[in-house]
Amino acid sequence: MNTFSKQLDYNIIQIDTGYLRTGLAACYLIIDNSRVAVIDSGVERTCGRVEAVLAGQGLTFNNVDFIVPTHVHLDHAGGAGKLMQLCQNARLVIHPLGSRHMIDPARLIAGAEAVYGKQGLHDSVGEIIPVDENRVIEADDLYRFRLGERELLVLDTPGHARHHLCLWDEQSRGFFTGDTFGIAYPELDCDGYSFIFPPTTPVQFDPPAWHASIDRLMAWHPERMYLAHFGLLEAPVIYVNTLQRMIDDLAALALECNVPDKVLPAAVKRYIYQELKKHGCQLDKERLTQVLDLDLDIIIQGLEVWLERSQVSRP
Ligand SMILES: [Zn+2]
Repeated sequence: MNTFSKQLDYNIIQIDTGYLRTGLAACYLIIDNSRVAVIDSGVERTCGRVEAVLAGQGLTFNNVDFIVPTHVHLDHAGGAGKLMQLCQNARLVIHPLGSRHMIDPARLIAGAEAVYGKQGLHDSVGEIIPVDENRVIEADDLYRFRLGERELLVLDTPGHARHHLCLWDEQSRGFFTGDTFGIAYPELDCDGYSFIFPPTTPVQFDPPAWHASIDRLMAWHPERMYLAHFGLLEAPVIYVNTLQRMIDDLAALALECNVPDKVLPAAVKRYIYQELKKHGCQLDKERLTQVLDLDLDIIIQGLEVWLERSQVSRP
């Protein structure tokens, strides 16, 4: 193997996408009878990593049948167009609400440029190119497809984003959860337990929908989750209550702060650091900043957007 990939059980390989920093975002290969599905496609530079991992298995891009971004946020789907171009036999399996952004990424690009700037977007995500609409499968809830001898099942899981799906793999009894089952960086593990938290990313954070999606995943009695951020999470049942509670806590914090601009960022940071302390995390402040700062910013921005929206919709 190499420094960026990890062989897991059930013919699943985890690949660090190379987005922003090592250990931030993962994608996965499922391999069955030499046929391959790529779950989340990472960014442009991820393509070379996928190619190298395939070569290590005696495979090429031609063995890829499916590319399945869990949702169209750019850390998950920014490289999908490029990867589709390289994998000529592949079809893109995507949530119906995400497909038009893959076929015409102009709005995705404009939105991301507004946040990161042209250069910033180029440096982090790389080139974003359209996917041929004839190669796109809009996967409704409970859509099933076959990879080699294996059957994979799509669940519609809004909450983090409306265009989010999760993929169930019966063989591993695992879900590929994108961001729906939260984030758990291995650096924050303590006594064998992960520190899990929900990314309330702009612009579609929806607490009730998210609760329902998590309940739905758990109804399958999954034994493991393949998180995009970051890696394999065993025994997810241990973490359900924490994740559900933190969704509510963060929404409540936003509502309490009410005037978001000054108070909310500090309150969110205080809250997450308190949770980390309860968890038993011993990392020093500098290391925590490296691991968490980016996510804290995104969580705060997402809560601000959600708060504005819920205030507008209130009578
Ligand atoms: Zn993400």
